[in-house]
Amino acid sequence: MDLYEYQGKELFRRFGIPVSEGRLATSPDEARAAGKELGAQVVVKAQVLTGGRGKAGGIKLADTPEEAAQHAEAILGMDINGHVVRKLWVEKASDITNEYYLSITFDRGEKKALFMLTKEGGIDIEEVAAERPEALARLHVDPLEGFKPYQARRLIYGAGIDDPDEQKQLLTIVGRLYDAFVGADAMLCEINPLIVTPEGEVKALDSKFTVDDNALYKHPDIAEMRDLEAYPPEERAAREKGVTYVKLEGEVGILGNGAGLVMSTLDVIALAGGRPANFCDLGGGGDAQGVVDALEIISADPQVRSILFNIFGGITRCDEVARGILRALDQISIDEPIVVRQDGTNAEEGRRLLTEAASENLHVEPTMLDAVRRAVELVA
Ligand code: GDP
Ligand code: MN
Repeated sequence: MDLYEYQGKELFRRFGIPVSEGRLATSPDEARAAGKELGAQVVVKAQVLTGGRGKAGGIKLADTPEEAAQHAEAILGMDINGHVVRKLWVEKASDITNEYYLSITFDRGEKKALFMLTKEGGIDIEEVAAERPEALARLHVDPLEGFKPYQARRLIYGAGIDDPDEQKQLLTIVGRLYDAFVGADAMLCEINPLIVTPEGEVKALDSKFTVDDNALYKHPDIAEMRDLEAYPPEERAAREKGVTYVKLEGEVGILGNGAGLVMSTLDVIALAGGRPANFCDLGGGGDAQGVVDALEIISADPQVRSILFNIFGGITRCDEVARGILRALDQISIDEPIVVRQDGTNAEEGRRLLTEAASENLHVEPTMLDAVRRAVELVA
């Protein structure tokens, strides 16, 4: 789950990483009030789950509360990389001497957390990594050993930060960022820019914070930060019903059991010249109600022109899934043709049930490739 800048900064604050004081605003009036309360120059920042807001005009300095309201008016409703701005973060403006970059993420290859630090922050880190890799200090943290202060020193020296006062503050910030990363079960904590003010204070001016979805049950306070309005309506409905669903761009609706099987189904659809409309994993159970729920969500997408079930029965029994399909078709009217491929536990029984139902809408195919081809044909 990706957090907004203001939410990531709230977590930074909890873990003792310095951030500026600010207020959330959803209207020009609220931005004006925030400007008054903060009582100095403020920066009005679009809150969207994408980067590059500065370049897109979504970040503006305001000298007065009135100016903050004007900027809010201009930024609210703005489209930034396909994300419409509905919220603003108004914070006390900072003076900036230097813009650094600090992040921690997973290096899956090394199976370790990876810190990256460079003095060349503010801009795209990919650019620095590609053009001046020597400017980017990297440091792995062994999960069993944990994080040690000497490692932070190596990182800080490696990045060429030689001011002792900055080094001292960075040492603390790096340690606390590690605490935040582990403590919040994060996948990514990124500070770009991490600024140095003219007074020599180091603080986080931006935050990019991604928390592992699978660990959210441990962090109800973070789970609550999820902004349902930021998701397509289909994904919202799916989440409420506990269905694993991701909306995609194409026309072939897909249901499968097991993430790997569904991923490979997406590939085979592309191979057959089609475009998948979604990713949907029924999970291990695949009981009738689960099928009903998933089918409702997939058929609600107006772009869907055919629906493909790809079921491999292991623990999931194919006859159970077949009953779910038939029950769903009783409960909701689905105009799109449905293609079913079943293999594995009780597959014959499942196919028999579907064939006997003799619905015009239902096409039973023996193999994955046959089913995919049929589903793609039916789109046309
Ligand atoms: P991003 O463009 O989405 O990464 O948004 P950031 O929060 O990183 O802001 C982009 C840029 O706006 C920063 O690199 C700064 O140069 C500038 N900026 C943001 N906040 C302030 C501030 O408080 N004072 C000043 N002077 N500039 C700021
Ligand atoms: Mn940034």
